[in-house]
Amino acid sequence: MNRIYFDHAATTPTRPEVIEAMHPFWGQYFGNPSSLHHFGKETLIAIKEIREKIAHLIGAKGDEIVFVSGGTESDNLAIFGVAYANRDRGNHIITSQIEHHAVLEPCRFLEREGWRVTYLPVDSYGMVNPEAVVDAITPETILISIMHANNEIGTIQPLKEIGTIARGRNVYFHTDAVQTFSHIPINVDELNVDLLSFSGHKFYGPKGIGGLYVRKGTRISPHIHGGYQEFKLRAGTENIPGIVGIGKAVQLAMLEMDAQTTYLTNLREKLIKGLLQIEGVRLNGHPDKRLPNNINITVDFVDGETMAINLDFKGIAVSMGSSCTTSMKGPSHVLSAIGRSYEDARSSIRITLGKDNTDKETDYFLEVFGDVVTNLRSMSHIYQEKR
Ligand SMILES: *Cc1c(COP(=O)(O)O)cnc(C)c1O
Repeated sequence: MNRIYFDHAATTPTRPEVIEAMHPFWGQYFGNPSSLHHFGKETLIAIKEIREKIAHLIGAKGDEIVFVSGGTESDNLAIFGVAYANRDRGNHIITSQIEHHAVLEPCRFLEREGWRVTYLPVDSYGMVNPEAVVDAITPETILISIMHANNEIGTIQPLKEIGTIARGRNVYFHTDAVQTFSHIPINVDELNVDLLSFSGHKFYGPKGIGGLYVRKGTRISPHIHGGYQEFKLRAGTENIPGIVGIGKAVQLAMLEMDAQTTYLTNLREKLIKGLLQIEGVRLNGHPDKRLPNNINITVDFVDGETMAINLDFKGIAVSMGSSCTTSMKGPSHVLSAIGRSYEDARSSIRITLGKDNTDKETDYFLEVFGDVVTNLRSMSHIYQEKR
């Protein structure tokens, strides 16, 4: 069967160029970068170069990039690291209701340990209001963590405004940029961001590697203790093949970012237009302040999971909101936060495009999708009655 992958927010295939770049670092260049001999120097030089390349992408310096195991660890390091290092300054954290679980769960953990956390609401597009950030800041506030773009509905947050507020009030500002890093332009100085999380497998790099940008001078303590790697912020021998892979993925993304944004936005708009022509289909998230590759829709009277399974039978891979919540009960916390009812949230699916998706695939999808919806609705008593 010819399969179509529309779940790039969950993960992306590792590019062949990335796999090729990693290859020599499994066997030929195997040295521990902490070793002082020739073998160690080879890998030490490699990771130093990559650190600089990655820093360059976001307007940072090489020694402000800390390699970790992925987006989840990066979010955890930012939140626990800043919370524990700044306990003498205050115990209040501000975040939003639509963050990834990799941010929400560390915050909930800290609440149980005596910190106070404000979970800001969002509007019907999934946007955080910067004014609400101003109102939430107290003398005890040490950290604001607001994601760059949401992984379920694609809404891009007003980071620059929030960053300016944080800077003015001397509060650290962290952003989970896992969905935007290497996809849309980021400059940490323009955004006034102090900490920024990214993950390799969300932009055609390998899984199990990511990083945290930490602005020089930020008070942060390590979360994993041991050796003195990664500026004493992340102990453990570095994942060299992973670092080489993420470096290659960044290098390629830098060259292709503008073209890909244009390509994906056109594909997205065409698909949204086609989907909205179907009766009872509504778009979730912001109409234009959204990720170039993200579509999230509510399809009235059709169960999201059933829809996704039926599409999978036809060879099309989509998701119900976040992949991390698939195994959880209850509707998406993001769709609830934008005001979708329980039924609406259960009737929603996410389609996230990638650089290798084609016009032909989106045409085929629209054809199949229309049939699937008609078919499922014909079996729905509620739908039949409402008609
Ligand atoms: C995927 C994702 C994460 C987690 O990243 P991993 O590398 O899978 O741990 C965190 N935040 C967002 C917004 C994501 O999309």
